[in-house]
Amino acid sequence: MAEQIVIIGGGQAAAMAAAALRHNGFDGGLTLLSDEPCPPYERPPLSKAALLDDNPALQPVLPADWWQQNKVTLRTGVQVSRIHRATRQVELLTGECLRWDQLLLATGAKARPLPALDALGDVTFTLRHTGDAARLRAALQPGKRLIIVGGGTIGLELAASATQRQCQVSLVEMAPEVMGRNAPPPVRAWLAQQHRQHGVELLVNNRIEQLTLAGGEINALLQDGTQCRADLLVYGVGILANDHLAADAGLETDNGIIVDNHCRTSAAGIFAAGDVARVRQPDGSLARRETWENANRQARLAAAAMLGLPPPEDTPGWFWTDQYQANVQFIGEMAGDNWLQRGDPDQGNAIWFNLVNGALAGAVTLNQGRDIRQLRKLIQYACRPDPASLADPSVPLKAL
Ligand SMILES: Cc1cc2nc3c(=O)[nH]c(=O)nc-3n(C[C@H](O)[C@H](O)[C@H](O)COP(=O)(O)OP(=O)(O)OC[C@H]3O[C@@H](n4cnc5c(N)ncnc54)[C@H](O)[C@@H]3O)c2cc1C
Repeated sequence: MAEQIVIIGGGQAAAMAAAALRHNGFDGGLTLLSDEPCPPYERPPLSKAALLDDNPALQPVLPADWWQQNKVTLRTGVQVSRIHRATRQVELLTGECLRWDQLLLATGAKARPLPALDALGDVTFTLRHTGDAARLRAALQPGKRLIIVGGGTIGLELAASATQRQCQVSLVEMAPEVMGRNAPPPVRAWLAQQHRQHGVELLVNNRIEQLTLAGGEINALLQDGTQCRADLLVYGVGILANDHLAADAGLETDNGIIVDNHCRTSAAGIFAAGDVARVRQPDGSLARRETWENANRQARLAAAAMLGLPPPEDTPGWFWTDQYQANVQFIGEMAGDNWLQRGDPDQGNAIWFNLVNGALAGAVTLNQGRDIRQLRKLIQYACRPDPASLADPSVPLKAL
């Protein structure tokens, strides 16, 4: 009987793993099981175009005819409820069982729930699926007052989109700065300034202490005594991995399925990729990159490992965010104390460089995404450019 690979999940990692398996010559049975009602779609637009465009359309990860052309069985609207390791089967909620020889878990994550905020009912929102975006978009009418809890990438993108829809936004963040987890200090400061200039009330170093809903109005009392009144509340405070199937099947998990750097889980023949996976590092710590590019990269890694092929070349991590007119792209290492700036962000274009012991370890571009390719090379090969040339916009990156 032909080898069967089953992929659980209907997002970026699941779709791209199917594509990589076929691209690498796997010609056995390939089935993708997704609990969403539609084929895999791009999630990044949900906080951007899906809230801003007049007629937002879902962007499919793969062309609609790809599945049939590549003989991949795409089953949407089906939820996997159990993994049977002894018999190598997955069980659907309906009781139907499917056999696998190799299994990929690409079940992603959900917004980390905050029950005290959910208790307000339908004035509270989170954003992960297309249905969440449609519900939020309908609620973000001009003049509505919105509290956003969480000043990470999603919170800031929501603030920008809501402001552009003429809503009044107050954003509450526990930490002293926004995007503290993944942007370097100069970029955090510049983004905070952008939001303030667009009228967002940034309430950093703060948290909601009391929350009531009366007559359709939300009243939030913050730790510093500020009172915020609003019509809607949306929160984005991190993710919770959809790892319960793996945990129930006895795989090693810890808010994510633990994998090695080939996406192999603790169980033979079972792999995990994307937001659900946490990679064990050489020092024993666990790391997860919750980005679109990582979902693609781990999909390729898992496919290669399943087929016994060498892993694709490792490249510096990359992600982006769009807020107002700013397209900000991050590549490589964001931790570091020595950031150099090229260009003037207030004029709309800049690059920030992270020099670690003289070598280029990371960079952030503002509206200069075309430079990412060159920056990737400089970072990958740990180039040691002259700091004065780095800061000088007249010196082409290729000359560094
Ligand atoms: C609003 C938003 C904006 C973003 N913007 C950016 C951005 O600008 N740049 C960037 O780099 N990254 C961004 N990201 C992150 C990026 O989209 C994610 O890292 C990526 O989508 C992860 O892909 P994934 O396939 O691992 O998980 P997911 O996309 O979450 O897919 C998991 C899939 O598995 C399904 N599933 C779960 N359990 C089961 C089950 N038991 N049975 C069947 N199916 C199941 C889920 O319904 C879902 O379809 C954004 C994310 C969100 C939510």
